[in-house]
Amino acid sequence: MQSSDGGRQGDAYVPGRVSDLTSLPNLDEDVLLQELKARYAADRIYTYVGDILVAVNPFKDVPIYTKEISDKYCGGLHSDHPPHIFATANDAYQGMLGKLAAPPQDQCIVISGESGAGKTESTKLLIRQLLQLCQGTSQLEQQILQVNPLLEAFGNAQTLMNDNSSRFGKYIQLFFQNGAVKGAKIREYLLEKSRLVQQAEGEQNFHVFYCMLNGLSPQNMEKYHLGGQQNYSYLKNFQEKAQQYRTQHQQLLDAMDMVGFDEEEQEGMFSTLAGVLHMGNIQICSTDSGDAYVDRSAKDLNITAEILGVDSADLESSLTQSVVRTNKGELIQRNYSVQQALASRDAVSKALYGRLFGWLVNKINQLLAPTDTSIAELQQIGVLDIFGFEHFEHNSFEQLCINLANEQLQYFFNQHIFLLEQEEYQREGVSWSTITFTDNKPVLNLLLARPIGILALLDEESLFPQGTDLTLLQKLNQNVGSSPYFTTGKQARSPLFTITHYAGKVEYNVTGWLEKNRDTLPSNTMSLLQRSSNPLINTICNGSITRTGTLALQHKTSKGRRLSKRPVGRQIGELGKKGGKQLTLGGQFKNSLAVLVERITAARPHFVRCIKPNGLKQPNNFQEDEVAAQLKYTGMMETIRIRREGYALRIPFQQFVQRYRSLGDIASIPEDQHGCQRILKAAGLSDWLIGKSKVLLKWWHTDELASRLQKVELAATH
Ligand code: ATP
Ligand code: MG
Repeated sequence: MQSSDGGRQGDAYVPGRVSDLTSLPNLDEDVLLQELKARYAADRIYTYVGDILVAVNPFKDVPIYTKEISDKYCGGLHSDHPPHIFATANDAYQGMLGKLAAPPQDQCIVISGESGAGKTESTKLLIRQLLQLCQGTSQLEQQILQVNPLLEAFGNAQTLMNDNSSRFGKYIQLFFQNGAVKGAKIREYLLEKSRLVQQAEGEQNFHVFYCMLNGLSPQNMEKYHLGGQQNYSYLKNFQEKAQQYRTQHQQLLDAMDMVGFDEEEQEGMFSTLAGVLHMGNIQICSTDSGDAYVDRSAKDLNITAEILGVDSADLESSLTQSVVRTNKGELIQRNYSVQQALASRDAVSKALYGRLFGWLVNKINQLLAPTDTSIAELQQIGVLDIFGFEHFEHNSFEQLCINLANEQLQYFFNQHIFLLEQEEYQREGVSWSTITFTDNKPVLNLLLARPIGILALLDEESLFPQGTDLTLLQKLNQNVGSSPYFTTGKQARSPLFTITHYAGKVEYNVTGWLEKNRDTLPSNTMSLLQRSSNPLINTICNGSITRTGTLALQHKTSKGRRLSKRPVGRQIGELGKKGGKQLTLGGQFKNSLAVLVERITAARPHFVRCIKPNGLKQPNNFQEDEVAAQLKYTGMMETIRIRREGYALRIPFQQFVQRYRSLGDIASIPEDQHGCQRILKAAGLSDWLIGKSKVLLKWWHTDELASRLQKVELAATH
């Protein structure tokens, strides 16, 4: 069992030649690092740890994704070729079909790594290869491939860590029947809407704005009253990349056409984007008595109103006044202060953008939904690409949610690789010396526990009208201050606290958290937009989506016609509300994470661990200390040990005999442990174990069994 760039067994030790780190004879952290470094220097960016793929970001084009190479990884065994992301796609595909050791099962591919480590690039390669595997050339496959440029335009942005950073998490499900793709569905998690109105120094807004301003035709620019990108207060850090943006804009238009967005919908999308940009320019001033009013000398209010399809006087009053219903049912108007009016203006912009994104995803899901079969009858492979772990100089609520998601994934990895596996050894009566790992459950509890966890305490404080960010911090201090994973700054009234995450310490600043978590919608402006004459704005503002914009929309086209009877986004829609009450942002995120974990737990997982070789986005630069830190916090040494010593495949006796009966020495093999033993011996395998109810196999036995089965089947046909 050898692969062409080094093998599991037998090779003399040459650093960088071993394609599977579990085969290294003397392994310590330094050997591991030197192995990856040597491979990286030779552009071997992929390495196995048993069945887990480690991918080191090359930050340059490596010619390993050609059609020829892709073909090589269609079918065949894991060990036939050097480690590759295409092999992971093949494993998942064959696993779904039941062509590997285990019976057919839904699969998922879980990709993790820091921001900029290469998760999204890996996802694109996986989806491409999965479609290659099912030899799809129909329009559906083309549509699925075009979803990504669409989502990236609206959901990705340049950050300090990554020029194309995902500002939302996604789980892409591909549905299959008899190996052919039948449809796809995207679940998205927590778009970072705050970026729309504010970006940190050196970062940008979502790509789509820059593409649009550089790529729209002069007529459309005029129609939307748009000018150069420097004219908009929501856009900062624009770069002289006009040609690149123009190309991306064209790709976006092509993708919209291909996926199936009609002209009216595209027009609606650009109107919303332009409306949001203009909204950010509306100047709010203060009267002598401190009341907010709109500076009418600038044309922004009128232009915004025109583009959003509402009356400008109504827009003005909704932005500067709130309408409150008293206990007696009377409506009272109250003037906003400048600060309140600005906050309300930005909240409307964020809501519009969030809802547009939610609508986009729902619409994609309608267009790509399997047509003649229900999802329950189909097999599926899911690919999880979330936002990577973030630790900036200034970290806010968004970073807390992003890092919580990464904590959750690390926990899932630990559960799957260490905990459940070792519990099974115990159940199966296998003598086993436990491999310890760093359990991040305490940090997950610190964040998620109820009623005393950071998110629950934040929710509690968000309910108090008098609550402030600093009273929140006091509350956290009182309730979770004793946790070894939580510390606050020594200075009085400092808005900072630090969490020791699995991937390192992150200092968070609580300023603005209550408001972000409440995610309050200025209801008067939203009800105005619900009467918009622009069909798309009308639709997205009337949908039963929650305030994060990610949820179920009324299932109408822009003309109000029902499209199909499928309940779009129902699942998440249910998460948005609890007992009729609107959930907070943190509450919704917590729930959607729980559903995600349920989903990936139900499938057979494949893990891809992306590693970032340096923080400078540079090719040919392997920073040992940075890589060592990532290997350490992901538990790579322990993972190698458990993959080397453990039994990654555990198959019930009956299933095993039914699948591999033809490898046995007699025809009537009993479906019990004796039968299993007969087969394993007849097949000449070693290193397996028989437990109380299951055969325990090393991960490489999958290939050995499959190749023997192939031989038997081949012999039978001749
Ligand atoms: P985030 O969490 O911020 O979304 P990410 O892990 O998704 O980060 P990517 O966007 O996939 O990171 O990768 C960052 C950049 O690294 C890409 O834009 C690309 O330039 C480079 N890159 C990643 N993977 C590869 C690859 N396999 N080949 C060439 N370049 C790559
Ligand atoms: Mg990404």
